[in-house]
Amino acid sequence: MAFKDGILEGVDYTAARHMGGKITPELVVLHDTASSLQEGSAADYLQDNDTKVSVHFVIELNGKLRQLVPINRRANHAGASSYHGRKGCNQFSIGIELVNPGKMRAAGENGVTWFGSTVENGHPYSIEIAETPEHGRGMWMHYPEAQLDTLLWLLRLLFSEVQTLRDIRPHWYVSPGRKVDTNPLFPLDHVRSYILGRDDPAEEEATALSKPVGADELAIVSANGDRLNLRRWPSFNPNIIAKIPDGTTVPVLRRGTFDGRTWLLVLYAGQEGWIVASYADPVTYAPAR
Ligand SMILES: [Zn+2]
Repeated sequence: MAFKDGILEGVDYTAARHMGGKITPELVVLHDTASSLQEGSAADYLQDNDTKVSVHFVIELNGKLRQLVPINRRANHAGASSYHGRKGCNQFSIGIELVNPGKMRAAGENGVTWFGSTVENGHPYSIEIAETPEHGRGMWMHYPEAQLDTLLWLLRLLFSEVQTLRDIRPHWYVSPGRKVDTNPLFPLDHVRSYILGRDDPAEEEATALSKPVGADELAIVSANGDRLNLRRWPSFNPNIIAKIPDGTTVPVLRRGTFDGRTWLLVLYAGQEGWIVASYADPVTYAPAR
């Protein structure tokens, strides 16, 4: 038994000051500390502070792991957040913080953190400029191998011991527009596919909660002259895979209600994706005779 009362045996544990009631974890949320890189500094803060924040695990740059909250108790790591329509991720997630400076401003080859420290490129960690729609443009620090090794080890353990866990997401995914951790250099797809396998659990869930429609159902995109977002999953989490021009006719494959809104699974430009049904006029395909 690797966990005893939610605490990982053989790992440095100090109870955090801010700890909530019992939870059943279904999700792992990954974070950057956006802090000093000094070993112990972020973990000590998360263990005891006046801002009410806490987290289950902290992984140092050298891979050292520390636990602060049992995995069956609530920690205050995600704040305002939502996962596929469910708000308040702290209530059903395990938080893991990776020590990392977060978004930096470029100063030549080096980076300057939000708290004014300079991180020199290559001493000893490499940093680089990167930009994504979710993160914006910034200077970011790579996650050292030792840190990623510990993360993968911990995730494997969690997913083998905690039967209710089914997904891994970065903080930016559950708090879009508000958070940018983990950073764009984090090997998210690799970590998710390594732990979760090829089948995406969010896709299984979307399939389970929707129904197929008739073979000849079509919809015309009606988005007031705008392009309509085609999404990987039926949610407003960052998952846009294409933008469909207004007036485009698309075949409809499935229909479902998610978080009180009707969504359609459609086929556009060779890929399947979800659109909000209220931006599409239904039409039935009538073959020419
Ligand atoms: Zn975070």
